[in-house]
Amino acid sequence: MSWFLKGIRKGIKTEKEVKEIAPWATSLIGNGKFDDCPTKALDNGWNSGKCIFCRKCYPNYSPSGDYRMGSVTRRVPLFKRSFYLYPIDTGSCGSCNVELKLISSPQYDMTRFGIFFTNTPRHADALVVMGVLTDGMEDAFRRAFDAMPNPKLVIALGSCAISGGLFGKGVKADVIIPGCPPSPPTIIDAILRARGEK
Ligand code: SF4
Ligand code: SF4
Repeated sequence: MSWFLKGIRKGIKTEKEVKEIAPWATSLIGNGKFDDCPTKALDNGWNSGKCIFCRKCYPNYSPSGDYRMGSVTRRVPLFKRSFYLYPIDTGSCGSCNVELKLISSPQYDMTRFGIFFTNTPRHADALVVMGVLTDGMEDAFRRAFDAMPNPKLVIALGSCAISGGLFGKGVKADVIIPGCPPSPPTIIDAILRARGEK
């Protein structure tokens, strides 16, 4: 709550820069052989999209402090003025949903960047997929994507949506946001880069 009290006292409503971040919400660095990774994220160097941040590989691998883990394969500068997200849970544990919701909190305030949520894929610029792509949600995912106007992006939020995590399968996406779950600063940073702002 310290940010909230500071805001009341000083009139500052949002964090302009990231000052604190949970260490295990940042990329891992290290070396040495480690065969017990449950998702095989260390088979060929550290694979951020497969890592579920279980900490089993510590101390061989440890957090770097760098939260900018997102990667973008397709930028759409058209989205610079406003950017509407349509979240879809295709089989998550719920934690990715909580972190995504947090980017709308006063602390992160996504609206200052022109980022908004929409309740319909017909108004969406990006489909934010959370969780493994379960058989039961495959049709809903496809229909939501088809209902979106062009140009449109698919954002895979979290290791489950990217690679299937511990089990299941992920989705083909234009924007990859690693984490289990990804932190709000990581999410906002990746979205801004998808819009060509970074
Ligand atoms: S934190 Fe867990 S999932 Fe990630 S690389 Fe280490 S052992 Fe693998
Ligand atoms: S990536 Fe992690 S936090 Fe997100 S849905 Fe999968 S298990 Fe849950």
